[in-house]
Amino acid sequence: VLVALAETALQDCLPHLDVGDAFGTLGTPSLSDAFGDDVKPEHASEVAVAARQELIDVLGGQAVLMNLDGDAETRWAPWSLRYSGHQFGTWAGQLGDGRAISILSTPHPSDPDTTYELQLKGAGRTPFSRFADGLAVLRSSIREFLCSEAMSALGIPTTRALSLVQLPSLTVQRERRETSCILTRAAPSFIRIGSFEALNPPHSGIGVSQQAADLEALRVLGEWVGRRVLKLEGVKWGEDGEGSKWGEKLVLESARRNGEMVAGWQAYGFMHGVINTDNVSIMGLTIDYGPYAFMDVFDAWHICNHDDGEGRYGYKWQPNAIIFALRSLVTTLAPLIGAEAELGHAVSSGWAKEDKIDEWRKKGTELVKDEMERVAQDACAQEYGRLMHRRLGLRRYDASDEAELCRPLLDILGEHKLDFHGTFRALCVFRASTDEATRSLFIDRLLSLCGTPHNLDMSKAVDDWRAWLGKYAARIENERAEWVREGEDADEARKREMRSANPRFVLRQWVLEEVIRNVERDVDSGKRLLAKVLKMACSPFEPWGAEDHDGDKSTLTAEIKEERKYCSLG
Ligand code: AMP
Ligand code: MG
Ligand code: MG
Repeated sequence: VLVALAETALQDCLPHLDVGDAFGTLGTPSLSDAFGDDVKPEHASEVAVAARQELIDVLGGQAVLMNLDGDAETRWAPWSLRYSGHQFGTWAGQLGDGRAISILSTPHPSDPDTTYELQLKGAGRTPFSRFADGLAVLRSSIREFLCSEAMSALGIPTTRALSLVQLPSLTVQRERRETSCILTRAAPSFIRIGSFEALNPPHSGIGVSQQAADLEALRVLGEWVGRRVLKLEGVKWGEDGEGSKWGEKLVLESARRNGEMVAGWQAYGFMHGVINTDNVSIMGLTIDYGPYAFMDVFDAWHICNHDDGEGRYGYKWQPNAIIFALRSLVTTLAPLIGAEAELGHAVSSGWAKEDKIDEWRKKGTELVKDEMERVAQDACAQEYGRLMHRRLGLRRYDASDEAELCRPLLDILGEHKLDFHGTFRALCVFRASTDEATRSLFIDRLLSLCGTPHNLDMSKAVDDWRAWLGKYAARIENERAEWVREGEDADEARKREMRSANPRFVLRQWVLEEVIRNVERDVDSGKRLLAKVLKMACSPFEPWGAEDHDGDKSTLTAEIKEERKYCSLG
């Protein structure tokens, strides 16, 4: 019926995410029985084969998980959420969710306090699809699938991807006719800032809303998110919200999380491309992978979205775009926060006092706006500093490192057009205590690995590197004694630490293009390559392609050669 690209993906993901309980409730054999570590599809029992087919049917949108019997606890049906948002800074009204349908939520097996929601993307129209078809194409689904897992492996908060099911008999017209595909993604929540905005659309400015505010719905959503998703501490959740004060805490927690998330983007050169407020998760998860890209040659001004002429969402401005989204959240929740300030809790029955709302809105905005920015900026700066420290293999935090080492390094990469990730990986094997000649060799090798020779002003590049490496060497020599005290070989220890912070494999555009081309041409061989790239993306710090092998290249196996190819810069 379907060609499932899912096999490998499912095997990789299911150990992390056991949806068995939820399926079990429907009387289907538990998935973990079907796909436990030792059960491969080819040796699976009949029951397991049937369960597997059922799973593919569900994740492929061919069977609907529904249970309309019983009480509120056991009853469920798929759902879709309404959200609105600002696109490129302008209010755009209702946007979605036009092609995402959640099918269930289930506790995470290793963290039962956290539920995970499974959501199909591209399974057809929802009540919010407007004029569109609700479908997704293979190309964009593969891009989201691989990148969510790549981001997770880099330690950047993100929604996860569980499976990809191709629907060869269902083609859709985009620029050309394409095969459609359903991606199943997982996250504790897919609620976005735009989900809040939908309930209290802006009343002024460009694109004045036609929709009325529903502040009571906003309160209910906010409480749900505060209690169930963000698990805000120090809030008393009353039956009807009386006595609780959560609005300000919710904004600040979302600011902190989103600040940390965007720090991860900056430190790892991830460019999202469309940071509209409907694409900013309330939980600070990277969500909705569209025209994203990882930085190749470092260029702080890079814009990865062709439709973003002004570079609003370019690399350099990503933290600003997140702040803009958080400001929209503040504007939306301001009346509740103002009411909290005056009454000690968000109002449930008092919304009738229309005359108060403007006053509350002003008060709420004043109360939380600056604090939100401070929290987001501090979280971002602190997390960025932490990550860049790891990437440089530094142990001790030194406030001057940002200005003395980080920024000058990025300046060199930008000026001499060097590969961002390649350079950091090359620095892992730098030795501080070497003679002039060895250091020159190191620089030559780095430039030939990470630069494009015709772009390089060689002698200037060499001088710049010599100066920077001099400072870097002094800085790491400073920490040598600390390694030695722990019984470590300082250079080896730093190499090990740096290799666990600087990916050998990066999900570059050309790799994605090649996977997509292969899958489109031939599903079986494409699937194999997809699985290979997924594996590399999920363990990006491994020395893929026998990285340290510098002997006879003719002895390398085809597999190692393939790994090398996908680790190369382009
Ligand atoms: P994006 O800019 O990708 O975040 O998309 C904006 C909105 O358009 C989202 O809310 C999507 O749900 C909706 N959308 C995009 N493509 C489709 C589609 N093929 N069918 C229905 N809705 C879509
Ligand atoms: Mg979106
Ligand atoms: Mg999208």
